[in-house]
Amino acid sequence: MLSVSEALARILARVAPRDVERAPLGAARGRFLAEAIAAGRDLPPWDNSAMDGFAVRAADLAAAPVELPVAGVVAAGRAPGAELAPGTALRIMTGAPLPRGADCVVIREEVEDLGDRARFAVPAQAGAHVRRAGEDVARGAVVLEPGAPIGAGEIALLAALGRAEVAVRRRPRVAILATGDELCPLGQEPAPGQIVSSNEHALAAQVADAGGEVVKSALVPDDRARTAAALSEALSADVVVTSGGVSVGDYDVVRGAMADLGVELDFWKVAMRPGKPVAFGAAPGGALVFGLPGNPVSSLVSFELFVRPALLAMAGARTIERPRAEVVLDGPVAKQPGRAHFVRAALRRRGDELVATPHARQGSGMMSSLVGVDALVAVPAEAGDQPAGARHCALLLRAV
Ligand code: AMP
Ligand code: MG
Repeated sequence: MLSVSEALARILARVAPRDVERAPLGAARGRFLAEAIAAGRDLPPWDNSAMDGFAVRAADLAAAPVELPVAGVVAAGRAPGAELAPGTALRIMTGAPLPRGADCVVIREEVEDLGDRARFAVPAQAGAHVRRAGEDVARGAVVLEPGAPIGAGEIALLAALGRAEVAVRRRPRVAILATGDELCPLGQEPAPGQIVSSNEHALAAQVADAGGEVVKSALVPDDRARTAAALSEALSADVVVTSGGVSVGDYDVVRGAMADLGVELDFWKVAMRPGKPVAFGAAPGGALVFGLPGNPVSSLVSFELFVRPALLAMAGARTIERPRAEVVLDGPVAKQPGRAHFVRAALRRRGDELVATPHARQGSGMMSSLVGVDALVAVPAEAGDQPAGARHCALLLRAV
Protein backbone atom coordinates (compact mmCIF):
# COMPACT_ATOMS: atom_id res chain seq x y z
CA MET A 1 0.00 0.00 0.00
CA LEU A 2 1.13 3.53 -0.74
CA SER A 3 2.88 5.37 2.10
CA VAL A 4 1.70 8.77 3.27
CA SER A 5 4.77 10.52 1.90
CA GLU A 6 4.48 8.79 -1.49
CA ALA A 7 0.80 9.73 -1.66
CA LEU A 8 1.57 13.35 -0.85
CA ALA A 9 4.36 13.45 -3.43
CA ARG A 10 1.95 12.19 -6.09
CA ILE A 11 -0.57 14.87 -5.14
CA LEU A 12 1.96 17.68 -5.15
CA ALA A 13 3.23 16.57 -8.56
CA ARG A 14 -0.23 17.43 -9.94
CA VAL A 15 -0.63 20.76 -8.19
CA ALA A 16 0.15 24.11 -9.79
CA PRO A 17 -0.16 27.54 -8.20
CA ARG A 18 -3.28 29.40 -9.31
CA ASP A 19 -3.23 32.57 -11.41
CA VAL A 20 -2.08 35.90 -10.11
CA GLU A 21 -4.54 38.70 -9.42
CA ARG A 22 -4.27 42.11 -7.83
CA ALA A 23 -6.01 42.45 -4.50
CA PRO A 24 -6.68 45.55 -2.44
CA LEU A 25 -4.72 45.35 0.79
CA GLY A 26 -7.94 45.00 2.79
CA ALA A 27 -8.72 41.75 0.97
CA ALA A 28 -5.21 40.31 1.07
CA ARG A 29 -5.20 38.89 4.60
CA GLY A 30 -4.66 35.13 4.69
CA ARG A 31 -3.41 35.06 1.10
CA PHE A 32 0.06 34.71 -0.35
CA LEU A 33 2.12 37.25 -2.23
CA ALA A 34 2.75 36.59 -5.90
CA GLU A 35 5.41 39.30 -6.25
CA ALA A 36 8.52 40.44 -4.47
CA ILE A 37 7.92 43.74 -2.72
CA ALA A 38 10.70 46.29 -3.12
CA ALA A 39 10.32 49.41 -1.01
CA GLY A 40 9.29 52.35 -3.18
CA ARG A 41 10.37 54.79 -0.48
CA ASP A 42 12.54 55.11 2.60
CA LEU A 43 11.04 54.30 5.99
CA PRO A 44 11.05 56.55 7.82
CA PRO A 45 10.83 58.96 4.89
CA TRP A 46 12.86 61.71 6.65
CA ASP A 47 14.86 62.13 9.87
CA ASN A 48 12.39 62.52 12.73
CA SER A 49 12.09 62.53 16.47
CA ALA A 50 11.53 59.25 18.33
CA MET A 51 10.30 61.08 21.44
CA ASP A 52 8.51 64.17 22.70
CA GLY A 53 11.25 66.59 23.81
CA PHE A 54 13.63 69.28 22.57
CA ALA A 55 15.63 69.26 19.36
CA VAL A 56 19.13 70.65 19.96
CA ARG A 57 22.71 70.54 18.75
CA ALA A 58 24.66 68.18 21.00
CA ALA A 59 27.58 70.65 20.85
CA ASP A 60 25.41 73.33 22.52
CA LEU A 61 24.99 71.07 25.57
CA ALA A 62 28.68 70.16 25.90
CA ALA A 63 29.07 72.51 28.86
CA ALA A 64 25.82 71.38 30.58
CA PRO A 65 24.14 72.34 32.74
CA VAL A 66 23.04 75.02 30.25
CA GLU A 67 19.91 77.03 29.46
CA LEU A 68 18.86 77.60 25.86
CA PRO A 69 16.11 79.85 24.49
CA VAL A 70 13.18 77.87 23.04
CA ALA A 71 12.58 79.23 19.55
CA GLY A 72 9.34 77.38 18.72
CA VAL A 73 7.69 74.03 18.31
CA VAL A 74 7.71 71.33 15.61
CA ALA A 75 4.64 69.08 15.64
CA ALA A 76 4.08 65.79 13.84
CA GLY A 77 2.60 66.52 10.40
CA ARG A 78 4.71 69.61 9.74
CA ALA A 79 6.59 69.57 6.48
CA PRO A 80 10.32 69.04 7.00
CA GLY A 81 12.36 72.23 6.66
CA ALA A 82 12.35 73.96 10.06
CA GLU A 83 15.78 75.33 10.95
CA LEU A 84 17.42 75.23 14.37
CA ALA A 85 19.58 78.30 14.95
CA PRO A 86 22.81 77.61 16.87
CA GLY A 87 22.47 78.12 20.61
CA THR A 88 18.69 77.54 20.64
CA ALA A 89 16.27 74.65 21.20
CA LEU A 90 13.00 73.70 19.48
CA ARG A 91 10.23 71.84 21.19
CA ILE A 92 9.58 68.68 19.12
CA MET A 93 6.97 65.92 19.15
CA THR A 94 7.29 62.22 18.36
CA GLY A 95 7.20 61.70 14.59
CA ALA A 96 7.90 65.37 13.77
CA PRO A 97 10.64 66.06 11.19
CA LEU A 98 13.99 66.85 12.77
CA PRO A 99 14.85 70.51 12.08
CA ARG A 100 17.90 71.22 9.97
CA GLY A 101 20.87 71.90 12.23
CA ALA A 102 19.59 69.71 15.08
CA ASP A 103 21.43 66.45 15.68
CA CYS A 104 19.65 65.04 18.72
CA VAL A 105 16.52 65.14 20.85
CA VAL A 106 16.53 65.44 24.64
CA ILE A 107 13.40 63.85 26.06
CA ARG A 108 10.94 66.10 27.79
CA GLU A 109 11.25 64.29 31.14
CA GLU A 110 14.96 65.25 31.34
CA VAL A 111 14.50 68.95 30.65
CA GLU A 112 13.42 71.70 32.99
CA ASP A 113 10.83 73.54 30.92
CA LEU A 114 10.94 77.25 31.73
CA GLY A 115 8.48 78.34 29.00
CA ASP A 116 10.57 80.44 26.61
CA ARG A 117 13.76 78.81 27.91
CA ALA A 118 14.76 75.23 28.70
CA ARG A 119 17.37 74.00 31.13
CA PHE A 120 19.47 70.95 30.21
CA ALA A 121 21.20 69.27 33.17
CA VAL A 122 23.59 66.98 31.27
CA PRO A 123 25.25 66.78 27.85
CA ALA A 124 23.53 64.83 25.05
CA GLN A 125 24.84 62.42 22.45
CA ALA A 126 24.54 63.34 18.79
CA GLY A 127 21.91 61.06 17.23
CA ALA A 128 20.04 60.42 20.49
CA HIS A 129 16.30 59.81 19.97
CA VAL A 130 16.56 60.53 16.27
CA ARG A 131 15.12 58.10 13.70
CA ARG A 132 17.14 58.50 10.51
CA ALA A 133 15.57 58.43 7.06
CA GLY A 134 15.72 54.89 5.66
CA GLU A 135 17.10 53.31 8.84
CA ASP A 136 14.10 50.96 9.02
CA VAL A 137 13.63 50.20 5.32
CA ALA A 138 15.89 51.64 2.63
CA ARG A 139 14.26 52.54 -0.69
CA GLY A 140 14.75 49.65 -3.11
CA ALA A 141 15.22 46.99 -0.43
CA VAL A 142 13.22 43.80 -0.95
CA VAL A 143 11.03 43.48 2.14
CA LEU A 144 8.78 40.56 1.16
CA GLU A 145 9.30 37.60 -1.15
CA PRO A 146 6.75 35.78 -3.33
CA GLY A 147 4.93 33.12 -1.33
CA ALA A 148 4.98 35.12 1.89
CA PRO A 149 1.80 34.81 3.93
CA ILE A 150 -0.02 38.12 4.38
CA GLY A 151 -1.00 38.78 7.98
CA ALA A 152 -1.44 41.90 10.09
CA GLY A 153 2.28 42.67 10.24
CA GLU A 154 2.80 42.35 6.48
CA ILE A 155 -0.28 44.52 5.92
CA ALA A 156 1.20 47.19 8.21
CA LEU A 157 4.45 47.29 6.26
CA LEU A 158 2.74 47.24 2.85
CA ALA A 159 0.46 50.11 3.90
CA ALA A 160 3.43 52.10 5.23
CA LEU A 161 5.06 51.69 1.83
CA GLY A 162 1.92 53.02 0.17
CA ARG A 163 0.96 49.70 -1.41
CA ALA A 164 -2.84 49.86 -1.67
CA GLU A 165 -2.83 46.74 -3.87
CA VAL A 166 -0.63 43.69 -4.10
CA ALA A 167 -0.30 40.76 -6.46
CA VAL A 168 -1.56 37.56 -4.85
CA ARG A 169 -2.50 34.09 -6.07
CA ARG A 170 -6.17 33.39 -6.53
CA ARG A 171 -7.64 31.26 -3.79
CA PRO A 172 -8.29 27.68 -4.87
CA ARG A 173 -12.04 27.15 -5.30
CA VAL A 174 -13.23 24.06 -3.47
CA ALA A 175 -16.48 22.09 -3.78
CA ILE A 176 -17.42 19.79 -0.90
CA LEU A 177 -19.75 16.82 -1.30
CA ALA A 178 -20.73 14.84 1.79
CA THR A 179 -22.14 11.48 0.77
CA GLY A 180 -24.35 9.12 2.75
CA ASP A 181 -28.03 8.13 2.94
CA GLU A 182 -27.86 8.60 6.70
CA LEU A 183 -26.95 12.28 6.56
CA CYS A 184 -29.31 14.96 7.80
CA PRO A 185 -28.43 18.62 7.19
CA LEU A 186 -27.53 20.75 10.19
CA GLY A 187 -30.59 22.62 11.43
CA GLN A 188 -33.03 19.73 10.85
CA GLU A 189 -34.08 17.01 13.27
CA PRO A 190 -32.54 13.67 12.17
CA ALA A 191 -35.11 10.99 11.32
CA PRO A 192 -34.61 7.49 12.79
CA GLY A 193 -31.42 6.05 11.31
CA GLN A 194 -30.04 9.48 10.44
CA ILE A 195 -27.18 11.48 11.93
CA VAL A 196 -26.46 15.17 11.58
CA SER A 197 -23.82 15.55 8.91
CA SER A 198 -20.73 17.21 10.35
CA ASN A 199 -17.97 16.55 7.83
CA GLU A 200 -18.83 19.31 5.37
CA HIS A 201 -18.70 21.87 8.17
CA ALA A 202 -15.34 20.68 9.45
CA LEU A 203 -14.01 20.50 5.89
CA ALA A 204 -15.18 24.05 5.13
CA ALA A 205 -13.26 25.28 8.18
CA GLN A 206 -10.19 23.37 7.06
CA VAL A 207 -10.47 24.76 3.52
CA ALA A 208 -10.59 28.33 4.84
CA ASP A 209 -7.56 27.63 7.08
CA ALA A 210 -5.64 26.37 4.07
CA GLY A 211 -6.24 29.50 1.98
CA GLY A 212 -9.09 28.05 -0.08
CA GLU A 213 -12.61 29.23 -0.80
CA VAL A 214 -15.65 26.96 -0.53
CA VAL A 215 -17.78 27.52 -3.63
CA LYS A 216 -20.24 24.67 -3.10
CA SER A 217 -21.22 22.34 -0.31
CA ALA A 218 -23.86 19.67 -0.70
CA LEU A 219 -25.17 16.42 0.75
CA VAL A 220 -25.52 13.55 -1.69
CA PRO A 221 -27.25 10.18 -1.17
CA ASP A 222 -25.54 6.84 -1.76
CA ASP A 223 -26.68 6.66 -5.34
CA ARG A 224 -24.17 6.40 -8.15
CA ALA A 225 -26.10 8.45 -10.71
CA ARG A 226 -26.94 11.21 -8.26
CA THR A 227 -23.40 11.26 -6.95
CA ALA A 228 -22.10 11.52 -10.51
CA ALA A 229 -24.53 14.37 -11.22
CA ALA A 230 -23.42 16.30 -8.12
CA LEU A 231 -19.79 15.57 -8.91
CA SER A 232 -20.17 16.74 -12.48
CA GLU A 233 -21.42 20.10 -11.26
CA ALA A 234 -18.69 20.27 -8.63
CA LEU A 235 -15.93 19.71 -11.20
CA SER A 236 -16.05 23.36 -12.26
CA ALA A 237 -14.19 24.09 -9.00
CA ASP A 238 -10.40 23.72 -8.80
CA VAL A 239 -10.67 21.02 -6.16
CA VAL A 240 -13.47 18.65 -5.22
CA VAL A 241 -13.47 17.05 -1.79
CA THR A 242 -15.94 14.25 -1.15
CA SER A 243 -16.52 12.56 2.17
CA GLY A 244 -17.74 9.01 2.67
CA GLY A 245 -18.61 6.23 0.29
CA VAL A 246 -15.07 5.68 -0.92
CA SER A 247 -14.39 2.28 0.65
CA VAL A 248 -15.64 -1.21 -0.21
CA GLY A 249 -19.14 -1.13 1.37
CA ASP A 250 -22.16 -2.19 -0.66
CA TYR A 251 -23.26 1.45 -0.97
CA ASP A 252 -19.84 3.02 -1.52
CA VAL A 253 -20.50 4.56 -4.91
CA VAL A 254 -18.09 7.48 -4.96
CA ARG A 255 -15.26 5.84 -6.88
CA GLY A 256 -17.74 4.49 -9.41
CA ALA A 257 -19.24 7.95 -9.87
CA MET A 258 -15.77 9.39 -10.30
CA ALA A 259 -15.01 6.80 -12.96
CA ASP A 260 -18.29 7.65 -14.75
CA LEU A 261 -17.02 11.21 -15.15
CA GLY A 262 -13.60 10.16 -16.39
CA VAL A 263 -11.77 11.01 -13.17
CA GLU A 264 -8.54 9.05 -13.25
CA LEU A 265 -7.66 7.86 -9.79
CA ASP A 266 -4.00 8.01 -8.90
CA PHE A 267 -4.61 6.01 -5.71
CA TRP A 268 -7.44 5.12 -3.37
CA LYS A 269 -5.72 3.53 -0.40
CA VAL A 270 -2.92 4.84 1.79
CA ALA A 271 -1.13 2.94 4.56
CA MET A 272 -2.33 5.15 7.37
CA ARG A 273 -4.70 5.22 10.31
CA PRO A 274 -7.11 6.83 10.58
CA GLY A 275 -8.05 7.26 6.95
CA LYS A 276 -6.97 4.26 4.92
CA PRO A 277 -9.52 4.61 2.12
CA VAL A 278 -8.54 7.95 0.63
CA ALA A 279 -8.75 8.49 -3.09
CA PHE A 280 -7.04 11.05 -5.26
CA GLY A 281 -7.22 11.79 -8.93
CA ALA A 282 -7.75 14.39 -11.60
CA ALA A 283 -10.81 15.06 -13.74
CA PRO A 284 -10.51 15.50 -17.53
CA GLY A 285 -11.11 19.26 -17.07
CA GLY A 286 -8.21 19.51 -14.63
CA ALA A 287 -10.00 19.63 -11.28
CA LEU A 288 -8.27 17.67 -8.56
CA VAL A 289 -10.53 15.24 -6.76
CA PHE A 290 -10.04 13.95 -3.23
CA GLY A 291 -12.28 11.17 -1.94
CA LEU A 292 -11.99 11.26 1.83
CA PRO A 293 -13.40 8.61 4.15
CA GLY A 294 -16.66 9.40 5.94
CA ASN A 295 -15.56 8.76 9.49
CA PRO A 296 -15.20 12.24 10.91
CA VAL A 297 -11.74 11.66 12.35
CA SER A 298 -10.51 10.07 9.14
CA SER A 299 -11.95 12.91 7.08
CA LEU A 300 -10.25 15.51 9.24
CA VAL A 301 -6.88 13.77 9.37
CA SER A 302 -6.76 12.89 5.69
CA PHE A 303 -7.64 16.48 4.76
CA GLU A 304 -4.84 17.65 7.03
CA LEU A 305 -2.28 15.35 5.45
CA PHE A 306 -3.25 15.60 1.78
CA VAL A 307 -5.69 18.35 0.90
CA ARG A 308 -4.26 21.12 3.05
CA PRO A 309 -0.77 21.04 1.49
CA ALA A 310 -2.32 20.90 -1.98
CA LEU A 311 -4.52 23.95 -1.32
CA LEU A 312 -1.66 25.91 0.18
CA ALA A 313 0.51 25.13 -2.84
CA MET A 314 -2.29 26.24 -5.16
CA ALA A 315 -2.75 29.40 -3.11
CA GLY A 316 0.94 30.15 -3.71
CA ALA A 317 2.24 29.60 -0.18
CA ARG A 318 5.99 29.32 0.26
CA THR A 319 5.54 26.97 3.23
CA ILE A 320 2.92 24.27 2.87
CA GLU A 321 3.94 22.03 5.74
CA ARG A 322 2.90 22.21 9.34
CA PRO A 323 5.70 22.83 11.78
CA ARG A 324 6.98 19.59 13.30
CA ALA A 325 8.59 18.80 16.63
CA GLU A 326 9.68 15.78 18.60
CA VAL A 327 7.25 14.93 21.38
CA VAL A 328 7.30 12.47 24.28
CA LEU A 329 4.21 10.30 24.70
CA ASP A 330 2.92 10.36 28.26
CA GLY A 331 0.63 7.39 27.70
CA PRO A 332 0.89 4.18 25.69
CA VAL A 333 -0.41 3.84 22.14
CA ALA A 334 -1.60 0.45 20.92
CA LYS A 335 -0.50 -0.21 17.36
CA GLN A 336 0.14 -3.02 14.94
CA PRO A 337 2.91 -2.70 12.38
CA GLY A 338 1.71 -1.97 8.84
CA ARG A 339 0.18 1.50 8.70
CA ALA A 340 1.41 4.87 9.93
CA HIS A 341 -0.70 6.15 12.81
CA PHE A 342 -1.62 9.76 13.36
CA VAL A 343 -2.44 9.97 17.02
CA ARG A 344 -4.54 12.90 18.16
CA ALA A 345 -2.88 14.41 21.18
CA ALA A 346 -2.93 17.37 23.52
CA LEU A 347 0.46 19.00 24.10
CA ARG A 348 2.04 20.66 27.08
CA ARG A 349 5.55 21.89 27.84
CA ARG A 350 7.70 20.22 30.46
CA GLY A 351 11.06 21.99 30.64
CA ASP A 352 12.51 21.80 27.14
CA GLU A 353 10.23 18.93 26.12
CA LEU A 354 6.85 18.78 24.49
CA VAL A 355 4.72 16.16 26.18
CA ALA A 356 1.90 14.61 24.15
CA THR A 357 -1.12 13.08 25.87
CA PRO A 358 -2.81 10.79 23.34
CA HIS A 359 -6.56 11.16 23.29
CA ALA A 360 -8.15 8.27 25.19
CA ARG A 361 -10.42 7.43 22.26
CA GLN A 362 -8.49 6.93 19.05
CA GLY A 363 -11.36 5.30 17.13
CA SER A 364 -11.98 7.04 13.82
CA GLY A 365 -15.67 7.61 14.56
CA MET A 366 -15.09 9.27 17.94
CA MET A 367 -16.37 12.81 17.61
CA SER A 368 -15.26 13.63 21.15
CA SER A 369 -11.64 13.01 20.14
CA LEU A 370 -11.74 15.91 17.67
CA VAL A 371 -11.60 18.62 20.29
CA GLY A 372 -8.50 19.70 22.17
CA VAL A 373 -6.20 18.30 19.51
CA ASP A 374 -2.94 20.25 19.42
CA ALA A 375 -0.93 17.77 17.39
CA LEU A 376 -0.97 14.63 15.32
CA VAL A 377 1.79 12.35 16.58
CA ALA A 378 3.15 10.40 13.62
CA VAL A 379 4.02 6.83 14.60
CA PRO A 380 5.81 5.20 11.65
CA ALA A 381 4.18 2.35 9.73
CA GLU A 382 6.67 -0.33 10.79
CA ALA A 383 6.35 0.45 14.53
CA GLY A 384 4.31 -1.68 16.96
CA ASP A 385 2.85 -0.80 20.39
CA GLN A 386 4.31 2.36 21.84
CA PRO A 387 5.02 2.69 25.56
CA ALA A 388 4.71 5.92 27.48
CA GLY A 389 7.99 7.79 27.09
CA ALA A 390 8.40 6.94 23.39
CA ARG A 391 9.53 9.88 21.26
CA HIS A 392 7.99 10.68 17.91
CA CYS A 393 7.68 13.45 15.41
CA ALA A 394 4.42 15.38 15.63
CA LEU A 395 2.65 17.75 13.26
CA LEU A 396 1.83 20.82 15.31
CA LEU A 397 -1.67 22.00 14.52
CA ARG A 398 -1.54 24.92 16.91
CA ALA A 399 0.83 26.62 19.27
CA VAL A 400 0.97 25.62 22.93
P1 AMP B 1 -18.35 5.81 4.93
O1 AMP B 1 -16.98 6.30 4.69
O2 AMP B 1 -19.36 6.33 3.99
O3 AMP B 1 -18.35 4.30 5.00
O4 AMP B 1 -18.78 6.32 6.36
C1 AMP B 1 -18.08 5.90 7.52
C2 AMP B 1 -18.74 6.42 8.75
O5 AMP B 1 -18.69 7.84 8.75
C3 AMP B 1 -20.20 6.06 8.89
O6 AMP B 1 -20.44 5.77 10.27
C4 AMP B 1 -20.92 7.31 8.46
O7 AMP B 1 -22.20 7.44 9.05
C5 AMP B 1 -19.99 8.38 8.95
N1 AMP B 1 -20.13 9.59 8.14
C6 AMP B 1 -20.11 9.62 6.79
N2 AMP B 1 -20.30 10.87 6.35
C7 AMP B 1 -20.45 11.64 7.43
C8 AMP B 1 -20.68 13.02 7.62
N3 AMP B 1 -20.81 13.86 6.59
N4 AMP B 1 -20.79 13.50 8.89
C9 AMP B 1 -20.66 12.64 9.93
N5 AMP B 1 -20.41 11.34 9.82
C10 AMP B 1 -20.33 10.83 8.58
MG1 MG C 1 -21.30 6.06 3.60
